[in-house]
Amino acid sequence: MCQRRCLPLPGTRQSRIYDCPQTCRGGQLMLELRPNCECCGRDLPPESSAARICSFECTFCASCVDEVLRGVCPNCGGNFVPRPIRPPEKLKSYPPSVKRVGRTSTC
Ligand SMILES: [Zn+2]
Ligand SMILES: [Zn+2]
Repeated sequence: MCQRRCLPLPGTRQSRIYDCPQTCRGGQLMLELRPNCECCGRDLPPESSAARICSFECTFCASCVDEVLRGVCPNCGGNFVPRPIRPPEKLKSYPPSVKRVGRTSTC
């Protein structure tokens, strides 16, 4: 039931549906905290201050956002914000996603 969709860019067939078991605990929506950059694949642990997310939580590292993507999400066309850091004690009850997301074709 809890499906989120990264909308396709106009003129592309790109459309991705995310199932998000991590965000469905008790119906409380929260960030997945994805483990890696969708562009260069580098690890972005939950405590990383280099993680950037768009409104659909497409996740990239700061250097890809600045140097490759120029601040625009290649999946949905939206902008990025720094990903908030979940306090370590909350990570025990609300662990980050372990599902690595593949490199985006437009990156
Ligand atoms: Zn990156
Ligand atoms: Zn996006």
